[in-house]
Amino acid sequence: MSAVPPQAVVDLHTHSLRSDGRETPAEVVAAAAAAGVDVIALTDHDVYSGWAEADVAGTRLGVTVVPGVEVSCRWRGISVHLLGYLPDPTHRGLLAELEESRASRDTRLRRMVDLLAAEGYPISYEEVLQEAGPDATLGRPHVADVLVRNGVLADRSAAFETLLVPGSPFYVSHYAPDPVRATELVVAAGGVPVMAHPFASTRGRVVEESLIEEMAQAGLAGLEVDHRDHGPAEHARAERTATRLGLLRTGSSDYHGSGKPNRLAENTTRPEVLEQILERGSGTPLLGAPLGARRRA
Ligand code: AMP
Ligand code: FE
Ligand code: ZN
Ligand code: FE
Repeated sequence: MSAVPPQAVVDLHTHSLRSDGRETPAEVVAAAAAAGVDVIALTDHDVYSGWAEADVAGTRLGVTVVPGVEVSCRWRGISVHLLGYLPDPTHRGLLAELEESRASRDTRLRRMVDLLAAEGYPISYEEVLQEAGPDATLGRPHVADVLVRNGVLADRSAAFETLLVPGSPFYVSHYAPDPVRATELVVAAGGVPVMAHPFASTRGRVVEESLIEEMAQAGLAGLEVDHRDHGPAEHARAERTATRLGLLRTGSSDYHGSGKPNRLAENTTRPEVLEQILERGSGTPLLGAPLGARRRA
């Protein structure tokens, strides 16, 4: 039995350098401790490689770490992000999907860089790899960072308004599993699937309710209702959908260090919701400090 303290501050969506965050896993955990966060989930895109470092830092700093992942999925051309908490990292089926996504992201980014370079933009694939660092899941943010460094754009956000968005001549998509299949795989791996920012229209077209219904049938546990990319109407809709389908309601920052304005714990998940997630997750143990370890002022 897990016992989440009733005052615990819980943030279940963060990124490190292992994907498109700007801090090492240890630095993310340290930032959480400094921000008064008791429990964070490390949910790098399509990769588990940050868990070990977050575990060590969490133990040292009194932060509990929920090992997680954000699985890139696609449905009818729409990008869908599925958070998976506590999956068994050795589960072959889920691992195979993550590996295929990452491999496809590499080729896709190489093509995007080639297209940009052919139009005269100062960028090379080697610079992108260097920017991302070793073993990171590559994404458009790393291309954006090189374009910023080379004086083409002001910041990452500018890239996501112009050059790197779907519809731009430089956009190339990558392999991503179907969200229902990804939900089934997270469940099969003993993990707890929660759909990230389900109605965030600033990111592009959003999915239909029918998909979320199918995902719920496949074992979806929750919706990330409280997220800064939801406008008021989208937030209300996410809340209604979660209630209608009997799904848990989570809230998270989607922290990327300096890579995004999102601040740790700007949205949080209620301790009793975390309790339910922990009860359902069986793929791998909690990491870092035991629950309730951090001394509170
Ligand atoms: P990709 O995975 O290559 O499709 O790129 C999508 C990633 O870009 C997401 O994981 C977001 O974290 C990031 N992203 C999207 N919009 C922005 C933005 N406006 N500023 C910074 N990062 C963004
Ligand atoms: Fe990201
Ligand atoms: Zn996401
Ligand atoms: Fe995210």
